[in-house]
Amino acid sequence: MTQPAPGGAQPSASRISARPRSAAPAPAGQPFAVRCDNLVHVYRTPGSEVAALRGVDLTVRPGEMVALLGPSGAGKTTLLWHLAGLLRPTAGRVEINGRQLTELGTGALARFRLTEVGLLLQNPGRNLLPYQSALGNLMFAQAPARRSVAARRRRAAELLDRVGLAGAARRRAGRLSGGEQQRLALAVALANEPGLLLADEPTTQLDPVSAAAVIELIRDANTSLGTTVVAVTHDPAVAAALGRTITIRDGRVGAEGLDGQEYVVVGRDGTLQLPAELSDLFPPGSLARAERHEHGVFLHRVDPPGPQDPGDQAGLPGPGAGR
Ligand code: ADP
Ligand code: MG
Repeated sequence: MTQPAPGGAQPSASRISARPRSAAPAPAGQPFAVRCDNLVHVYRTPGSEVAALRGVDLTVRPGEMVALLGPSGAGKTTLLWHLAGLLRPTAGRVEINGRQLTELGTGALARFRLTEVGLLLQNPGRNLLPYQSALGNLMFAQAPARRSVAARRRRAAELLDRVGLAGAARRRAGRLSGGEQQRLALAVALANEPGLLLADEPTTQLDPVSAAAVIELIRDANTSLGTTVVAVTHDPAVAAALGRTITIRDGRVGAEGLDGQEYVVVGRDGTLQLPAELSDLFPPGSLARAERHEHGVFLHRVDPPGPQDPGDQAGLPGPGAGR
């Protein structure tokens, strides 16, 4: 463990440097495919409330691919459901392609989900009609698209081939294995060439070869159609393929990865979630001093005098504790 620096400004703690969030210039049209402003979601059940999202600020540009990372229970699935318009925010707002979802009526919201969003839920079976064949599921998914039956069949056959299910076209979806269902569910999500693909753990049930095919299909939709992708994943191969990562911890955006570099994200109230690997240096409740430096700040843990310290009866650091 790195020794904290209770008594001086030695560069032994954590150096935090600033990176402005300017990124690339916005393309023509809508600047953001996805925008969340201070998004809060509280699940209320009789006798309990769970704050699953505690003020998420997030933007994704059209054509970007983003992996949502974070421990179990962090709020990733809840966030994805908001992007799909399946939940109403407790507070804050969600905009997709410039439209605020809470302002859409029931019909417009249903149309939005059918035509603009491809959604792959965490449990692959829930995306499918179990008594329909694999082909039938793909034909049904294309019902909202303005395509001839022949064009739908061509699209279905192409997708079945891409996910390695050409031989299972006539099998009932409910009879497919978990991995096959997951691949079929991705094909269904992409059937109408959505502008936004939302996928919750798309490779959990897959062997590395099938996972690679799924990643290839997602990337292909992105490069050939410009589909924006937001995928929850624990799979490092998926995260690497998508490029930008956003780590959710405890219902907030804690960190972002860009070009292989990891950054902590400063919240609107100035809060930072320190990287998990610093938790030994800054356990919960630690006192720290943040000191301005040339290109950022140094954060030093300050150990308050213990109860055995005769100099401080209150047990709190005196005014000179960090110097
Ligand atoms: P993740 O996908 O990151 O594992 P979730 O979004 O599923 O996280 O859950 C975030 C938090 O909300 C967890 O504490 C979870 O137990 C809680 N939660 C999720 N869904 C519900 C629900 N339907 N009712 C009550 N609590 C829920
Ligand atoms: Mg989840």
